[in-house]
Amino acid sequence: MKDSTKCLHSGYKPGNAGPGAMPIYQSTTFRYESTQAIADLFDLKTDTPFYSRLGNPTCSFVEQKIAALEGGVGAMLTSSGQAATLTAILTIAKAGDHILCSSTVYGGTFNLMAVTFKRMGIDVTFFEQSETDEQVEAKIKPNTKAIFGETLANPALTIFDIERFANIAHKHEIPLIIDNTFATPILCKPFDFGADIVVHSTTKYFDGHAVQVGGVVVDSGKFDWAKSSKFPEFVTPDESYHGLVYTQTFGKLAFIVKARVQIMRDLGCCQSAQAAFYINLGIETLPLRIRKHSENALAVAKHLQSHPKISRVIYPGLESDPSYELSKKYLTDGLCSGVLSLDIKGGREAGAKFIDNVKLASPEVHVADIKTCLLHPATATHRQLSDKQLEECGITPGLVRLSVGLEDLDDIIRDIDEALEKV
Ligand SMILES: *Cc1c(COP(=O)(O)O)cnc(C)c1O
Repeated sequence: MKDSTKCLHSGYKPGNAGPGAMPIYQSTTFRYESTQAIADLFDLKTDTPFYSRLGNPTCSFVEQKIAALEGGVGAMLTSSGQAATLTAILTIAKAGDHILCSSTVYGGTFNLMAVTFKRMGIDVTFFEQSETDEQVEAKIKPNTKAIFGETLANPALTIFDIERFANIAHKHEIPLIIDNTFATPILCKPFDFGADIVVHSTTKYFDGHAVQVGGVVVDSGKFDWAKSSKFPEFVTPDESYHGLVYTQTFGKLAFIVKARVQIMRDLGCCQSAQAAFYINLGIETLPLRIRKHSENALAVAKHLQSHPKISRVIYPGLESDPSYELSKKYLTDGLCSGVLSLDIKGGREAGAKFIDNVKLASPEVHVADIKTCLLHPATATHRQLSDKQLEECGITPGLVRLSVGLEDLDDIIRDIDEALEKV
């Protein structure tokens, strides 16, 4: 099946007289008829649901759909995108280990890596894409367990050279983990370029209607945990399951099963059936939406590129953008999502004035909504920073992040133009 078909038909399949819409299994628990049947569940001999922290049929349908879209062997929904990155890393790294992370990642991921993982004893080093292979490899240590990057970085909007970093990771027997949130599997399939694990914030384009926070971890099934010398936890007995060995019992599913039965079991950052229903509803129209978001954003970017009040537009779909070549390689039909950044002349005050004068677009701490929304980091997420500190994080005082929605293009552009007139 092609993606649009998978978005509608993968996962839940109604049986004879079954409901056409995916049912919500609003139940914490599932009934079994014998102690033996329950014992088998705890020995991981069967994979039927028994408690919704570890698996729920509604969540499972959506996991199957997302795994099919990414071309993976399995997936696990999580309570948020942050929880997806957390569980993916903790499945392969523990205190004393090290992660190599791209410096252009989502702010929440940056904090998780730079602050919270460090507090947990997992050391993280950041690298720039502009570094040579040798420079990046020099940062890989014997205890390094993964390289992490973002397909289309939020908010930098740079494109990660997945193939290049997959090759570096594999040379050192470690997996490449990709946050594919902004691109979605419709615009990019990181596994096709060598990535081993994908995470998403489903809060963004998967849901797409700003109704549900969520995340997902997807396993390509391609990384050979037994062949690498770096992952003893995959090839030695897990005492919490009577000495079960993940690679022996689950083969290509070793990573995603370990993520669920060990990390999700113990941390509990699971998704609810009701939430999975919303995410599924969003995914059904994802191919249509992401295409239109991208087309509208490109038109807005082109319109603003020569606007006298704007000094710069950042959008990888523009030929002048430093990521343009990579967008051709990694993104379907060169579509680059609905998110772009504009730098308004006049700094912090001008940026604030612009936000205060839009009427249709909604000032919000969100992106990837079906409705146009925007945010001025210098007076919102980064308001505590001085102009100089802002520049150090690559954010100019007049920068506005714009998430272009599915309103009529003429209305979006008129709203922006009218607000710019007031600046
Ligand atoms: C929003 C976002 C996250 C975090 O997701 P939440 O669902 O808000 O926890 C992670 N990565 C990227 C690229 C994001 O945009």
